[in-house]
Amino acid sequence: MTGTVLEQQTKPSCGSEQQRVACAIGGIYTILAIEKVLPIMHSGPGCQQNAGGVLGRFNGAQSGVSYPESVIPSTNFCERDVVFGATGRLRQLVAKSMDYYQSDMFFIVDGCTSEIVGDDIEEVAGDFQDRGKPVLFAKLPGFKGNNLWGHSQVLNAIIDQYLKETDHINDKQVNIFGIVPYYDSFWQATLEELEKLLRVLGLEPNSIYGRGKGVPALQKIPEAAFNLVLAPWTDLDTVEKLQEKFGTPFFHYPCVPIGPTETARFVWALTEYAGLDKTKSGEYIQQEESRYYYYIKNAVKVFGGGTQTPRKFFINSSAAQTLSLTRFLVNDWWMTPQKIFIIDDVPEKHQERITGELRNVEYDRADEFDVVFTTDGGLCDVEIKKEDFLFKKACLFGTAWDQLTANYKQLPFVRVSAPYGDSVIGNKTYFGWNGALTFLQDLHDDITSKILGSGVVVKLDDIGGH
Ligand code: SF4
Repeated sequence: MTGTVLEQQTKPSCGSEQQRVACAIGGIYTILAIEKVLPIMHSGPGCQQNAGGVLGRFNGAQSGVSYPESVIPSTNFCERDVVFGATGRLRQLVAKSMDYYQSDMFFIVDGCTSEIVGDDIEEVAGDFQDRGKPVLFAKLPGFKGNNLWGHSQVLNAIIDQYLKETDHINDKQVNIFGIVPYYDSFWQATLEELEKLLRVLGLEPNSIYGRGKGVPALQKIPEAAFNLVLAPWTDLDTVEKLQEKFGTPFFHYPCVPIGPTETARFVWALTEYAGLDKTKSGEYIQQEESRYYYYIKNAVKVFGGGTQTPRKFFINSSAAQTLSLTRFLVNDWWMTPQKIFIIDDVPEKHQERITGELRNVEYDRADEFDVVFTTDGGLCDVEIKKEDFLFKKACLFGTAWDQLTANYKQLPFVRVSAPYGDSVIGNKTYFGWNGALTFLQDLHDDITSKILGSGVVVKLDDIGGH
């Protein structure tokens, strides 16, 4: 799945039926996102590889924060273990891992086969409670759900098995939830930028994922004044559980904001909820908007003259990305959705609300475009190939696999979700005012190469992917 292969692909490919979510064992990537926390796998030898195909190396060349996947201990559950079980080998593996890895926390996870034969990982974890380091467990068999389900199990395990009640509440601390590490390809830089914004507004952000966080950040979770969820549905179960256990209220904003309209809306909503300084929020919004429009005007000859720029778009992605992008593209970029495919197996109870959030945009025909909830990531490919784009061009946004479809139909395309492909994602994010500029650069570069053919490359600013 190299960029070169994708660029050269001109014919329909079986690639469009490839994985866009991992199985539940992909929850190990939530563990890998927490610094110095080591997953110990009690699963088949190929399970990590399977999850890594969507969430790791082929997702913007990403790897574990403290541990690359190649050093994750695994019992490599095999045929013999199906007959006799392998809890003995798991005990040995945990003991040796605790001897040799300088980790702050160990996390035993199992996969399908060990779960089916009934190996008791809870009991094994219990055997190590007096070794001075926390040993947690989470059952992540792929037959129970996808990587988002696995992610939720990992967070549940942390709450149930590790977090302790506290009398100390920090009235400025806000825990950040909703951004699922690795599955949201841009998670690292989005969290970094979001934290900067929250600090400017007078809050003390606490995120457990990424550089410099780890177990100390986990321990602070019960001390927060409130939990912030920036997602249509992921982590809502987690903050509800935290509310139940520690009494921490939560503020739910349905998407990671992209662009001036949505980001300002988010800042005002948060300011209102948390009782923040309105003058400070207003000044910050004004300053960022002014900078955003400066760069838009700077490239207005390309943007303004782009009569061939498609105004319709398709998305094949997670609920989180579809909502963030749709609101930005409709409210700030005068584009309109043709069809939206949401492919992360959103639980039925959230679907109607998410559809309503998608239609809550400044577009008088917002109730006319199709929203499809599906677990078939290839459905979008099939439908797009039936369309005739000769006179009404459209854009497509999705995973690296969808780039094959876009190339085949010569549609401008931007990769927005996992698997992102093997180009390095680094500190890229589409969050906020700045992220919107980055997105527009990416979009117009592809429009230039596929439609305009002028060779003009839009560079809105010069700050390295922000
Ligand atoms: S579905 Fe089961 S066996 Fe397959 S990768 Fe996932 S956990 Fe492993």
